[in-house]
Amino acid sequence: MSELPRFNAYVNGQWITPSDGRYFETVNPYTAKVWAEVARCTPDDANRAVEAAHAALTTGPWASMTATQRGALVHKLGDLIRDNARELAEYEVRDNGKLLNEMLAQCNYLPQWFYYYGGLADKIEGAVIPIDKPDIFNFTRHEPIGVVAAITPWNSPLLLLSFKLAPALAAGCTLVIKPSEFTSTSTLKLMELVEQAGFPPGVVNVVTGFGAEAGAALVEHPKVAKVAFTGGTESGAYVYQQAAKTLKRCTLELGGKSPNIVFDDAVLDDAVKGAISGIFAATGQTCIAGSRLLVQDGIYDEFVKRLVEFAKSARMGNPMDTSTQVGPVTTPPQYEKILKYIEVAKSEGAEVLLGGGPASGPECGDSKLFVQPTIFGGVHNKMRIAQEEVFGPVLSIIRFKTDEEAVEIANDIAFGLAAGVWTQSIKRALKVSAAIRAGTIWVNTYRAISYLSPFGGYKMSGLGRENGIEGMREYLQTKSVWISTAADVPNPFVMR
Ligand code: NAD
Repeated sequence: MSELPRFNAYVNGQWITPSDGRYFETVNPYTAKVWAEVARCTPDDANRAVEAAHAALTTGPWASMTATQRGALVHKLGDLIRDNARELAEYEVRDNGKLLNEMLAQCNYLPQWFYYYGGLADKIEGAVIPIDKPDIFNFTRHEPIGVVAAITPWNSPLLLLSFKLAPALAAGCTLVIKPSEFTSTSTLKLMELVEQAGFPPGVVNVVTGFGAEAGAALVEHPKVAKVAFTGGTESGAYVYQQAAKTLKRCTLELGGKSPNIVFDDAVLDDAVKGAISGIFAATGQTCIAGSRLLVQDGIYDEFVKRLVEFAKSARMGNPMDTSTQVGPVTTPPQYEKILKYIEVAKSEGAEVLLGGGPASGPECGDSKLFVQPTIFGGVHNKMRIAQEEVFGPVLSIIRFKTDEEAVEIANDIAFGLAAGVWTQSIKRALKVSAAIRAGTIWVNTYRAISYLSPFGGYKMSGLGRENGIEGMREYLQTKSVWISTAADVPNPFVMR
C-alpha cells in the first residue's frame, strides 16, 4: 500500500474510491516527484456521478430552491474560496508548476465569479409576449439546461472551472466535473468548500481520470444536457462530434495562435512588455498566448533588439519562489511537443534570436521540464511555427509593412481566440480591432480577463462564450408557455 496521499472522487456528496480500485500518480513538475495518487475513475463511476447529478436536478432540495437561495449558496462558495485562496493556489502549483504568484493572483480573483453569478441568479427574468392571437397569455421562462459535464485542462484548472461552475450553479444546473489528469487535486480541494458551503449532495460532482475513460463517458451519457469543455482544438472537435450523437449543447474553449501586432507609432517599451507577457508569462502555456508577434517594418530592428534584451533577463526557477518569472513546463508530453516545434522552426529557416532548446542548471532543480524562453525572427506566416499552437515559451516574429498586410496576416490562420494591437492612434486601433477575426482584442494591453466580459473564440478557437451575462445564458434554455383565456376551446382542425 502506497504512503502517498490519496485523492478520491466526489460523487453525490461522498468521497468514493474508483469502482475498479485503480489510482494514477500526480507529479510535481518542479521537483519531478510523484506527490499524490488520484482515483482513476471508470465509465461506471462517471455514470454514477451523472445519475447523482440528474437526481439532484430533478428532485430534492436543489430542484425546489428559489433562485435567491441558490445565489446565496454560490456567493457563500465565493467567500470560502477567498478564505482558502492560498491553499488552493499551492495545490495548483504542485500539480501544474506554474508560478505561485500567478496562481495566487488567479485564486484571489476567483471569488468574483461566484459573487457576480450568485448576484445574477435571481435577476434572470422571462418576458410576457404581446402575442398576436386572441385570448392567449404567453410568457417565457429561462430554465436550467440540465446536467452539465465540465471538462477542464491543466493550465489554469480552477480559473477555467470557475468560468463554468459559477454560472451553471447560478442557473440551477447540476454538474459533473472532469479535471485534467495532470491537475486534479485543486478541483478536489474545492469540493471540500462546496461541501462546507452546504450544496445538497449531487449538485456538484467530480470524477477524476483520463479523457478517453471518465471524460468520454460523460460526453456520451444521455442524461448530460451540456458539455462545457476547455482544452485543445483536436480534442474539442472530437468531443463536439461525440456530443452531437445525443444533441448536447456545447461550449468549447479551444486553442489559439494569437497575433500581437506592434505598429510603428506604438510606445515601444510598453509593447515590449506586452509581447513578453503575451508569450513568456505562464511559460507560454496559455490559450491566449500572443505567440505570433507582428512587427512593422520601420521599427522592426529597434523593437526586436529591446525585446530580446528584456527576454534575456527572465528568471527561471522554482515556481513557489515569488521572484521566479518562468517556471517549468507542466507535463512531459508538452515539453516534448515544445522541443519538437523548436526543431520544426529551425528546419523551416526561422532565425534563433534567443534560447532555442531545453534549459538546465541549478535554478531548474530536479525538473527536466524547463525550456529556454525562445524567440524566432524571420518567420513567415505560412510556416508551421506560425500556424500551429505550441503552448510553450516560443515566440515567432513576423515582419509587415502596411496596416492591411498586418490584418491579412493576423486573419490568415485557423484560430481566432485573441489579438493584441499596439498603437497610439485611436483610429488605427478601432479599425484594426474591427477587422481581426478573434473573440478578444486588447489594445495597448495583453492578457486582461474579467468575470464581466464575454470570452471565447472565433473559428477553430471555439464555440459559445464564457463570462458576463452571455456566459450565464449558455446554461439556460427558454420555454414558451401558452395559456388560453378563451371561454371555450376553438375548432380543433384549425391551427391557432
Ligand atoms: P486536452 O484537450 O488534452 O484536455 C483537456 C481536457 O479534456 C482534459 O480534462 C482531458 O482529460 C479531457 N479530454 C481529452 N479527450 C477527451 C475526450 N475524448 N472526451 C472527454 N474528455 C476528454 O487539453 P490540455 O492539453 O489539457 O490543455 C491545453 C489545451 O487547452 C491547449 O490547446 C489550450 O489552448 C487549450 N486551452 C484553451 C482555453 C480557452 O479558454 N480557449 C484555455 C486554456 C487552455
